[in-house]
Amino acid sequence: MTNIFTNAKTFEQAFVTQLENTYAIDFKDSNAYQQYLALGTLLKEHISTDWKNTNKIEADKRQVYYFSMEFLMGRMITNNLMNAGVYDVVKEAFTNLGLDINEIEHKETDAGLGNGGLGRLAACFMDSVAALALPVHGNCIRYRYGFFKQKIENGYQVEYPDRWLKDIHVWEVRRDEEAIDIPFYGHIELHVDEKGKLTVYHKNAEYVKAVPYDVPIIGYKNEVVNTLRLWSAEPSDRYENQGGTFEYHKKLRQISEMLYPNDETDEGKILRLKQQYLFSSAGVNAIIRKHKKLYGTLENLSEKAVFHINDTHPTLIIPELMRILVDEENMEWEKAWEITRHCVAYTNHTILSEALEKWPIRLLQPLLPRIYTITEEINRRFELELKAKFGDYAKQVEEMCIIKNGMIHMANLAIVGSFSVNGVAQLHTDILKGIEMKTFNDYYPNKFNNKTNGITHRRWVLQSNPELVSILKDTIGEGWIKDTTKLEGLLKFVDDKSIQKRYDEMKLARKQALAKKIFKEQGVELDPTSIFDIQVKRLHEYKRQLMNALHIMHIYNELKTNPEVRNHFHPHSFIFGAKAAPTYYFAKKVIKLINTIADKVNNDPDTNKFLKVVFVEDYNVTYAETIMPAADLSEQISTASKEASGTGNMKFMMNGAITIGTLDGANVEIAELVGNDNIVIFGMNAEEVTSLMASHSYNPYDLYEKDPHIKRILDQLTNGFFDNVPNHEFEEIRRNLLERDTYFVLKDFRSYVMAQAKANKMYQNRSEWLKKSIINTAKSGFFSTDRTMEEYNRDIWHLEKIK
Ligand SMILES: *Cc1c(COP(=O)(O)O)cnc(C)c1O
Repeated sequence: MTNIFTNAKTFEQAFVTQLENTYAIDFKDSNAYQQYLALGTLLKEHISTDWKNTNKIEADKRQVYYFSMEFLMGRMITNNLMNAGVYDVVKEAFTNLGLDINEIEHKETDAGLGNGGLGRLAACFMDSVAALALPVHGNCIRYRYGFFKQKIENGYQVEYPDRWLKDIHVWEVRRDEEAIDIPFYGHIELHVDEKGKLTVYHKNAEYVKAVPYDVPIIGYKNEVVNTLRLWSAEPSDRYENQGGTFEYHKKLRQISEMLYPNDETDEGKILRLKQQYLFSSAGVNAIIRKHKKLYGTLENLSEKAVFHINDTHPTLIIPELMRILVDEENMEWEKAWEITRHCVAYTNHTILSEALEKWPIRLLQPLLPRIYTITEEINRRFELELKAKFGDYAKQVEEMCIIKNGMIHMANLAIVGSFSVNGVAQLHTDILKGIEMKTFNDYYPNKFNNKTNGITHRRWVLQSNPELVSILKDTIGEGWIKDTTKLEGLLKFVDDKSIQKRYDEMKLARKQALAKKIFKEQGVELDPTSIFDIQVKRLHEYKRQLMNALHIMHIYNELKTNPEVRNHFHPHSFIFGAKAAPTYYFAKKVIKLINTIADKVNNDPDTNKFLKVVFVEDYNVTYAETIMPAADLSEQISTASKEASGTGNMKFMMNGAITIGTLDGANVEIAELVGNDNIVIFGMNAEEVTSLMASHSYNPYDLYEKDPHIKRILDQLTNGFFDNVPNHEFEEIRRNLLERDTYFVLKDFRSYVMAQAKANKMYQNRSEWLKKSIINTAKSGFFSTDRTMEEYNRDIWHLEKIK
């Protein structure tokens, strides 16, 4: 096949022909959406040989299958063009044709197959493994509706469905021939023949057909193309117990209908369990089918395959693999268990114990009868092992067993059934090993390890911040793209006035771009010379957007009552972006509060030259690409010990923002890398939080009485200070803070106010600030997912690179 991307001229011709042939129209009559589809189609054809070859080369190699309920991919077009190394050619051709490449890129809808950090991490991993030529493939669900679209109406969040698949998804390839029937419900019959051989029959099952759609993941200019496999639920031809066709179709459609907009707790349990089993089982069965075809046996499975489970959502892989090995392959239990345990690795993402997944037996058993009995047997044998070691009534048995009080503890199953358990930042892993999962860590001393998260610098700098890319090119060259530790080379330039000036111009340009977008979409005008202070992430109490909001009220009060404050306060724009789970009442109130504050301060002529507040609508990956490069200050202010890692903090840092944050998650590692002068740390540390919680001695009301600023702000929540809301609108927020304050907002408030004042002052010393900004970029190389993936491979996966 000739390469149509070799130069602009040949591409131009191929592109025009493609459009005219597909739509039977003249090129000049085509619209941007048609142009986008033509471009996507040509690119997919272009990389198809590399995709095929990668699959061939990998076939008999050890491979990783990364199972994740979420892949928050965002748009793929720009990333694909850049990684395939054809972006410049296309851009030039489009310019010749009078087309705007940006406009065409924007025709792709975000693949919002995730809620936030966890799903975005999986997407960054995919980009890095392909760039590193590691044979790693994703498995997920092809949700017809992604994460909801958020609108702000009268200050409140309103959710709309995200119909990202309503049009053609150009990147995917449907693979009917690899579809797999997945059984639900029914019952199990066991037969033992005269030789003692066990046969298991799943009777009266309701089958659902899982159909894979493969999406290519293009490596950065290296001819490697990996696969993200998305499973879709469809009607099966195996009619056994469909219980009425209409009902059957309705119920099965729901399985790949939508992503659960809640990443901390589970809703709609049975449906969620069906989703988990569908993609876990289909994924594993497809891999095993290929493996058997190649080797005729599963005895060597653990040499050739790793099933990596991203959080506990795909943990059913463990009993499913046991089922295949024992029931279908007639393997001895012990041998099957040995293989299973050596195939599975698990990443833990949370220490919030309420977020650890547990499934009630009463739901799981009828839905997945064989999976349940296998899980029961895994638990029975594990308990025997524990009792032999610790004694029948030891606390270790109670703590570590998988099934207790009618519930199946998925994290325990994942730990017991895997060869590696990793946390996602040093502090998080330390807490897992030393506190939350200490008993397990004592029992399996070499199983736990840390792999600090990262982000792909290709999306978050190369694609999102052209001005920074140009500075880097002129200072340290382009080596950083392959090896981000080379960013440290920037340290030589921190005092160079001309480079500081370029950093200043880069920030200004990125801030102008964000200001322009916000103005266009929401009509709020921001001054790009003001400090852009940004908090974008899911809305959660532990992330403490509320503390940020209360601080803005404090600044407003100060500016109003002490006009001389205005003389040394640099104008400040506070930018928020966050989706709250639709059922999370308190989080939605916080959104209303932020918008109510914005309404007040943005419209007060006394203060609006100094203070602006904006809540951006529908924060998603594409929005983040404009937001991350535009920040001066990155808000990472979670209650210490609650945020496992965070990755937003890394995107901001790489783009030169200075972090204002607590010593939580990966902030700890950011602080160690940049040093105390180049970050603003405040508040309690993890140990202080943990011991204050344990002492039960915290009384937020004391702070209300002692601190007149806090008193004033809390009173303003309900005393008519806000114009357009009834006095009781924020009653719950006030009461929550005074009576519980579970996340220590008031406790850390004073310290946060001081940190903010320090940051505002720091910003005014321009040269010093720009130096800090450059140091942050220079030290951010560690946070590339290229480093994270190399570590996974070195310590967990042990894969050979392709070629
Ligand atoms: C990076 C990212 C996140 C994670 O942000 P945190 O601050 O780490 O919670 C969430 N959503 C989107 C769209 C992202 O790009």
